[in-house]
Amino acid sequence: MKVTEHIEKSHGKTQFSFEILPPLKGENIQSIFDAIDPLMEFNPPFIDVTYHREEYVYKELDNGLLQKQVVRKRPGTVGICAAIQNKYDVDAIPHILCGGFTQEDTENFLIDLGFLGIDNVMALRGDAVKSETYFKPEKEGHHYASQLVSQIANLNHGVYLDEEVQNNTPTDFCIGVAGYPEKHLEAPSMDSDIYFLKKKIAKGATYIVTQMFFDNSKFFQFVEKCRKEGIEVPIIPGLKPLVTKKQLNLIPHRFNVDLPDDLIREVVKCKDNDQVREVGIEWCLQQSKELVKAGVPVLHYYSMGKSVNIKKIASQVF
Ligand code: FAD
Repeated sequence: MKVTEHIEKSHGKTQFSFEILPPLKGENIQSIFDAIDPLMEFNPPFIDVTYHREEYVYKELDNGLLQKQVVRKRPGTVGICAAIQNKYDVDAIPHILCGGFTQEDTENFLIDLGFLGIDNVMALRGDAVKSETYFKPEKEGHHYASQLVSQIANLNHGVYLDEEVQNNTPTDFCIGVAGYPEKHLEAPSMDSDIYFLKKKIAKGATYIVTQMFFDNSKFFQFVEKCRKEGIEVPIIPGLKPLVTKKQLNLIPHRFNVDLPDDLIREVVKCKDNDQVREVGIEWCLQQSKELVKAGVPVLHYYSMGKSVNIKKIASQVF
Protein backbone atom coordinates (compact mmCIF):
# COMPACT_ATOMS: atom_id res chain seq x y z
CA MET A 1 0.00 0.00 0.00
CA LYS A 2 1.15 3.55 -0.65
CA VAL A 3 2.39 5.85 2.11
CA THR A 4 -0.36 8.34 1.29
CA GLU A 5 -2.98 5.59 1.63
CA HIS A 6 -1.56 4.59 5.02
CA ILE A 7 -1.89 8.22 6.10
CA GLU A 8 -5.47 8.52 4.83
CA LYS A 9 -6.47 5.26 6.50
CA SER A 10 -5.15 6.34 9.90
CA HIS A 11 -7.77 9.16 10.08
CA GLY A 12 -5.50 11.67 11.78
CA LYS A 13 -3.84 9.26 14.24
CA THR A 14 -0.06 9.68 14.23
CA GLN A 15 1.72 6.54 13.04
CA PHE A 16 5.20 5.24 13.78
CA SER A 17 7.84 4.56 11.13
CA PHE A 18 11.59 4.37 10.91
CA GLU A 19 14.57 4.23 8.59
CA ILE A 20 17.29 1.61 8.50
CA LEU A 21 20.65 1.38 6.74
CA PRO A 22 21.76 -1.71 4.82
CA PRO A 23 24.48 -3.54 6.75
CA LEU A 24 28.13 -3.10 5.82
CA LYS A 25 29.16 -5.38 2.97
CA GLY A 26 30.00 -8.82 4.36
CA GLU A 27 27.50 -8.63 7.23
CA ASN A 28 24.44 -10.82 7.49
CA ILE A 29 20.84 -9.67 6.85
CA GLN A 30 20.04 -10.98 10.34
CA SER A 31 21.43 -7.68 11.70
CA ILE A 32 18.60 -5.92 9.85
CA PHE A 33 15.96 -8.24 11.25
CA ASP A 34 17.44 -7.80 14.73
CA ALA A 35 17.03 -4.04 14.33
CA ILE A 36 13.46 -4.33 13.05
CA ASP A 37 12.06 -7.03 15.39
CA PRO A 38 11.92 -4.92 18.58
CA LEU A 39 10.07 -2.14 16.74
CA MET A 40 7.35 -4.24 15.13
CA GLU A 41 5.09 -3.96 18.19
CA PHE A 42 4.51 -0.29 17.24
CA ASN A 43 2.96 -1.36 13.92
CA PRO A 44 5.01 0.66 11.44
CA PRO A 45 3.01 0.96 8.21
CA PHE A 46 6.27 1.36 6.32
CA ILE A 47 10.03 1.12 6.83
CA ASP A 48 12.55 3.13 4.81
CA VAL A 49 15.81 1.63 3.59
CA THR A 50 18.57 4.08 2.69
CA TYR A 51 20.67 3.88 -0.48
CA HIS A 52 24.44 4.28 -0.34
CA ARG A 53 26.31 5.14 -3.47
CA GLU A 54 29.87 4.25 -4.30
CA GLU A 55 32.81 5.86 -2.52
CA TYR A 56 36.39 6.30 -3.59
CA VAL A 57 39.03 4.82 -1.32
CA TYR A 58 42.78 4.94 -1.72
CA LYS A 59 44.69 1.68 -1.13
CA GLU A 60 48.43 1.74 -0.57
CA LEU A 61 50.26 -0.63 -2.93
CA ASP A 62 53.46 -2.56 -2.08
CA ASN A 63 55.48 0.04 -4.00
CA GLY A 64 54.09 2.83 -1.81
CA LEU A 65 51.86 4.30 -4.54
CA LEU A 66 48.19 4.91 -3.84
CA GLN A 67 45.55 3.24 -5.99
CA LYS A 68 42.08 4.78 -6.26
CA GLN A 69 39.32 2.18 -5.90
CA VAL A 70 35.57 2.43 -6.13
CA VAL A 71 33.68 0.61 -3.38
CA ARG A 72 30.09 0.40 -2.23
CA LYS A 73 30.18 -0.21 1.49
CA ARG A 74 26.45 -0.73 2.01
CA PRO A 75 24.88 -2.39 -1.01
CA GLY A 76 21.61 -4.32 -0.77
CA THR A 77 18.85 -1.70 -0.55
CA VAL A 78 16.51 -3.48 -2.98
CA GLY A 79 17.16 -6.95 -1.57
CA ILE A 80 16.50 -5.73 1.97
CA CYS A 81 13.24 -4.09 0.89
CA ALA A 82 12.06 -7.31 -0.72
CA ALA A 83 13.10 -9.28 2.38
CA ILE A 84 11.21 -6.87 4.69
CA GLN A 85 8.03 -7.05 2.65
CA ASN A 86 8.30 -10.84 2.55
CA LYS A 87 9.09 -11.38 6.23
CA TYR A 88 6.99 -8.70 7.93
CA ASP A 89 4.30 -7.90 5.38
CA VAL A 90 5.10 -4.21 5.88
CA ASP A 91 5.71 -1.77 3.03
CA ALA A 92 9.40 -1.16 2.49
CA ILE A 93 10.52 2.08 0.90
CA PRO A 94 13.78 2.02 -1.00
CA HIS A 95 15.61 5.31 -1.33
CA ILE A 96 16.72 6.02 -4.86
CA LEU A 97 19.35 8.59 -5.81
CA CYS A 98 20.31 10.74 -8.77
CA GLY A 99 23.99 10.30 -7.82
CA GLY A 100 25.67 7.32 -9.45
CA PHE A 101 22.68 6.55 -11.67
CA THR A 102 22.20 7.19 -15.37
CA GLN A 103 18.56 7.59 -16.40
CA GLU A 104 18.74 4.11 -17.88
CA ASP A 105 19.99 2.71 -14.53
CA THR A 106 17.10 4.48 -12.81
CA GLU A 107 14.54 3.02 -15.18
CA ASN A 108 15.90 -0.50 -14.69
CA PHE A 109 16.01 -0.03 -10.91
CA LEU A 110 12.35 1.03 -10.95
CA ILE A 111 11.38 -1.93 -13.13
CA ASP A 112 13.00 -4.27 -10.58
CA LEU A 113 11.07 -2.60 -7.76
CA GLY A 114 7.80 -2.91 -9.67
CA PHE A 115 8.40 -6.64 -10.24
CA LEU A 116 9.06 -7.09 -6.52
CA GLY A 117 5.72 -5.50 -5.59
CA ILE A 118 7.34 -2.41 -4.10
CA ASP A 119 5.13 0.59 -4.79
CA ASN A 120 6.77 3.37 -2.78
CA VAL A 121 10.08 5.14 -3.41
CA MET A 122 11.89 8.01 -1.76
CA ALA A 123 13.46 10.12 -4.52
CA LEU A 124 16.67 11.94 -3.55
CA ARG A 125 19.55 13.65 -5.22
CA GLY A 126 22.22 12.22 -2.91
CA ASP A 127 25.27 14.07 -1.64
CA ALA A 128 28.53 14.72 -3.41
CA VAL A 129 30.92 11.76 -3.18
CA LYS A 130 33.29 12.23 -0.25
CA SER A 131 36.29 13.24 -2.35
CA GLU A 132 34.33 16.02 -4.14
CA THR A 133 32.96 19.33 -2.90
CA TYR A 134 29.96 19.57 -5.21
CA PHE A 135 27.46 17.02 -6.37
CA LYS A 136 28.18 15.74 -9.87
CA PRO A 137 25.56 13.76 -11.75
CA GLU A 138 26.42 10.87 -14.06
CA LYS A 139 26.79 11.83 -17.70
CA GLU A 140 23.26 10.68 -18.49
CA GLY A 141 21.94 11.23 -14.98
CA HIS A 142 19.83 13.76 -13.12
CA HIS A 143 21.15 16.93 -11.45
CA TYR A 144 18.24 17.37 -9.05
CA ALA A 145 15.69 15.21 -7.28
CA SER A 146 12.88 17.01 -9.15
CA GLN A 147 14.19 15.50 -12.42
CA LEU A 148 14.25 12.06 -10.83
CA VAL A 149 10.67 12.58 -9.65
CA SER A 150 9.70 13.48 -13.24
CA GLN A 151 11.21 10.28 -14.55
CA ILE A 152 9.36 8.17 -11.97
CA ALA A 153 6.11 10.03 -12.68
CA ASN A 154 6.62 9.46 -16.41
CA LEU A 155 7.04 5.75 -15.82
CA ASN A 156 3.82 5.85 -13.78
CA HIS A 157 2.22 7.06 -17.03
CA GLY A 158 3.89 4.30 -19.05
CA VAL A 159 6.47 6.67 -20.56
CA TYR A 160 9.78 4.80 -20.86
CA LEU A 161 13.07 6.32 -22.01
CA ASP A 162 13.02 4.35 -25.23
CA GLU A 163 9.98 5.49 -27.18
CA GLU A 164 9.98 2.21 -29.02
CA VAL A 165 9.30 0.11 -25.91
CA GLN A 166 6.24 -2.00 -26.70
CA ASN A 167 3.46 -2.87 -24.23
CA ASN A 168 4.60 -0.02 -22.01
CA THR A 169 3.00 -1.03 -18.72
CA PRO A 170 2.75 1.93 -16.34
CA THR A 171 4.32 1.57 -12.90
CA ASP A 172 2.42 2.81 -9.84
CA PHE A 173 4.89 4.37 -7.44
CA CYS A 174 4.03 6.68 -4.57
CA ILE A 175 6.92 9.16 -4.49
CA GLY A 176 8.33 10.76 -1.36
CA VAL A 177 10.89 13.57 -1.30
CA ALA A 178 13.14 15.26 1.26
CA GLY A 179 12.41 18.60 2.96
CA TYR A 180 14.68 20.66 5.19
CA PRO A 181 13.19 22.61 8.15
CA GLU A 182 16.55 24.37 8.54
CA LYS A 183 17.15 24.56 4.75
CA HIS A 184 19.39 22.36 2.67
CA LEU A 185 23.09 23.07 3.11
CA GLU A 186 23.57 24.31 -0.46
CA ALA A 187 20.37 26.35 -0.74
CA PRO A 188 21.07 30.10 -0.81
CA SER A 189 17.92 30.79 1.25
CA MET A 190 14.92 29.07 2.80
CA ASP A 191 12.61 30.62 0.20
CA SER A 192 14.73 29.23 -2.60
CA ASP A 193 14.79 25.77 -1.01
CA ILE A 194 11.00 25.75 -0.61
CA TYR A 195 10.60 26.97 -4.19
CA PHE A 196 12.47 23.88 -5.42
CA LEU A 197 10.67 21.64 -2.93
CA LYS A 198 7.43 22.82 -4.50
CA LYS A 199 8.82 21.80 -7.89
CA LYS A 200 9.32 18.25 -6.64
CA ILE A 201 5.66 18.15 -5.63
CA ALA A 202 4.53 19.67 -8.92
CA LYS A 203 6.43 16.94 -10.78
CA GLY A 204 4.60 14.18 -8.93
CA ALA A 205 5.86 13.66 -5.38
CA THR A 206 3.02 13.12 -2.92
CA TYR A 207 4.61 13.45 0.50
CA ILE A 208 7.66 14.96 2.22
CA VAL A 209 9.93 13.52 4.92
CA THR A 210 12.07 16.06 6.71
CA GLN A 211 15.67 16.11 7.67
CA MET A 212 16.17 15.57 11.40
CA PHE A 213 15.69 18.59 13.68
CA PHE A 214 15.99 19.10 17.43
CA ASP A 215 13.82 22.18 17.82
CA ASN A 216 10.17 21.62 16.98
CA SER A 217 9.58 25.31 16.35
CA LYS A 218 11.80 24.99 13.24
CA PHE A 219 9.53 22.21 11.96
CA PHE A 220 6.34 24.14 12.68
CA GLN A 221 7.69 27.24 10.89
CA PHE A 222 8.74 25.10 7.93
CA VAL A 223 5.29 23.52 7.62
CA GLU A 224 3.71 26.97 7.84
CA LYS A 225 5.94 28.30 5.05
CA CYS A 226 5.26 25.27 2.87
CA ARG A 227 1.50 25.67 3.31
CA LYS A 228 1.77 29.39 2.52
CA GLU A 229 3.57 28.49 -0.72
CA GLY A 230 0.78 26.09 -1.66
CA ILE A 231 2.50 22.80 -0.75
CA GLU A 232 -0.38 20.71 0.49
CA VAL A 233 1.02 17.17 0.72
CA PRO A 234 1.64 15.44 4.07
CA ILE A 235 4.87 16.52 5.77
CA ILE A 236 6.41 13.81 7.95
CA PRO A 237 8.90 14.93 10.61
CA GLY A 238 12.17 13.01 10.85
CA LEU A 239 13.62 12.57 14.36
CA LYS A 240 16.81 11.20 15.79
CA PRO A 241 17.86 10.94 19.43
CA LEU A 242 21.32 12.26 20.13
CA VAL A 243 23.37 9.46 21.73
CA THR A 244 27.02 10.51 21.93
CA LYS A 245 28.84 13.68 22.94
CA LYS A 246 30.69 13.69 19.64
CA GLN A 247 27.38 14.22 17.83
CA LEU A 248 27.19 17.75 19.29
CA ASN A 249 29.69 18.70 16.59
CA LEU A 250 29.05 16.01 14.02
CA ILE A 251 25.31 16.51 13.54
CA PRO A 252 25.31 20.26 12.81
CA HIS A 253 28.22 19.79 10.42
CA ARG A 254 26.85 16.74 8.62
CA PHE A 255 23.16 17.69 8.45
CA ASN A 256 23.16 21.48 8.58
CA VAL A 257 20.97 21.61 11.68
CA ASP A 258 21.27 23.68 14.86
CA LEU A 259 21.12 22.12 18.30
CA PRO A 260 19.16 24.06 20.94
CA ASP A 261 21.30 25.54 23.75
CA ASP A 262 19.27 23.74 26.45
CA LEU A 263 20.09 20.40 24.86
CA ILE A 264 23.75 21.29 24.42
CA ARG A 265 24.04 22.35 28.07
CA GLU A 266 22.50 19.07 29.27
CA VAL A 267 24.80 16.99 27.06
CA VAL A 268 27.93 18.90 28.06
CA LYS A 269 27.14 18.13 31.73
CA CYS A 270 27.09 14.36 31.05
CA LYS A 271 29.97 12.27 32.38
CA ASP A 272 29.75 9.56 29.73
CA ASN A 273 27.76 8.51 26.67
CA ASP A 274 25.31 6.45 28.75
CA GLN A 275 24.20 9.72 30.32
CA VAL A 276 24.17 11.44 26.92
CA ARG A 277 21.90 8.68 25.61
CA GLU A 278 19.45 9.28 28.46
CA VAL A 279 19.40 13.02 27.76
CA GLY A 280 19.02 12.46 24.01
CA ILE A 281 16.19 9.97 24.42
CA GLU A 282 14.32 12.25 26.83
CA TRP A 283 14.72 15.20 24.44
CA CYS A 284 13.47 13.20 21.49
CA LEU A 285 10.58 11.86 23.58
CA GLN A 286 9.44 15.39 24.44
CA GLN A 287 9.76 16.39 20.77
CA SER A 288 7.70 13.34 19.78
CA LYS A 289 4.93 14.07 22.27
CA GLU A 290 4.61 17.66 21.11
CA LEU A 291 4.53 16.63 17.45
CA VAL A 292 1.82 14.05 18.12
CA LYS A 293 -0.20 16.74 19.89
CA ALA A 294 0.23 18.94 16.82
CA GLY A 295 -1.29 16.15 14.73
CA VAL A 296 1.61 15.10 12.48
CA PRO A 297 0.65 12.12 10.28
CA VAL A 298 3.71 10.00 11.07
CA LEU A 299 6.75 10.21 13.34
CA HIS A 300 9.68 8.92 11.32
CA TYR A 301 12.77 7.92 13.30
CA TYR A 302 16.29 7.73 11.97
CA SER A 303 17.13 4.55 13.85
CA MET A 304 20.62 4.02 12.37
CA GLY A 305 20.14 0.37 13.40
CA LYS A 306 19.94 1.35 17.12
CA SER A 307 16.43 0.14 17.82
CA VAL A 308 16.90 0.08 21.62
CA ASN A 309 16.87 3.89 21.73
CA ILE A 310 13.89 4.21 19.39
CA LYS A 311 11.99 1.55 21.32
CA LYS A 312 12.39 3.50 24.56
CA ILE A 313 10.83 6.54 22.90
CA ALA A 314 8.12 4.73 20.93
CA SER A 315 6.94 2.76 23.97
CA GLN A 316 5.99 6.06 25.65
CA VAL A 317 4.39 7.62 22.56
CA PHE A 318 2.55 4.84 20.69
P1 FAD B 1 17.30 18.27 -4.25
O1 FAD B 1 15.86 18.34 -3.97
O2 FAD B 1 17.73 18.04 -5.65
O3 FAD B 1 17.97 19.62 -3.71
C1 FAD B 1 19.38 19.75 -3.62
C2 FAD B 1 19.75 21.23 -3.56
O4 FAD B 1 19.56 21.82 -4.84
C3 FAD B 1 18.91 22.06 -2.59
O5 FAD B 1 19.73 23.04 -2.05
C4 FAD B 1 17.83 22.67 -3.49
O6 FAD B 1 17.34 23.89 -2.96
C5 FAD B 1 18.61 22.89 -4.77
N1 FAD B 1 17.83 22.78 -6.02
C6 FAD B 1 16.88 21.89 -6.30
N2 FAD B 1 16.46 22.03 -7.58
C7 FAD B 1 17.19 23.05 -8.11
C8 FAD B 1 17.26 23.67 -9.39
N3 FAD B 1 16.46 23.28 -10.38
N4 FAD B 1 18.13 24.69 -9.58
C9 FAD B 1 18.96 25.10 -8.56
N5 FAD B 1 18.94 24.53 -7.32
C10 FAD B 1 18.07 23.52 -7.11
N6 FAD B 1 21.26 10.51 0.93
C11 FAD B 1 21.70 9.31 0.48
O7 FAD B 1 22.79 9.25 -0.12
N7 FAD B 1 20.99 8.16 0.65
C12 FAD B 1 19.78 8.16 1.29
O8 FAD B 1 19.17 7.11 1.43
C13 FAD B 1 19.29 9.40 1.79
N8 FAD B 1 18.08 9.47 2.42
C14 FAD B 1 17.61 10.70 2.85
C15 FAD B 1 16.32 10.76 3.46
C16 FAD B 1 15.82 12.00 3.91
C17 FAD B 1 14.46 12.05 4.55
C18 FAD B 1 16.62 13.17 3.78
C19 FAD B 1 16.11 14.49 4.29
C20 FAD B 1 17.86 13.12 3.17
C21 FAD B 1 18.36 11.88 2.70
N9 FAD B 1 19.61 11.80 2.05
C22 FAD B 1 20.06 10.58 1.59
C23 FAD B 1 20.45 12.99 1.89
C24 FAD B 1 20.16 13.74 0.57
O9 FAD B 1 20.53 12.93 -0.53
C25 FAD B 1 21.00 15.03 0.60
O10 FAD B 1 20.50 15.90 1.56
C26 FAD B 1 21.19 15.73 -0.74
O11 FAD B 1 22.25 16.67 -0.59
C27 FAD B 1 19.98 16.49 -1.27
O12 FAD B 1 19.02 15.66 -1.70
P2 FAD B 1 17.56 16.23 -2.16
O13 FAD B 1 16.83 15.07 -2.68
O14 FAD B 1 16.97 17.03 -1.10
O15 FAD B 1 18.05 17.17 -3.39
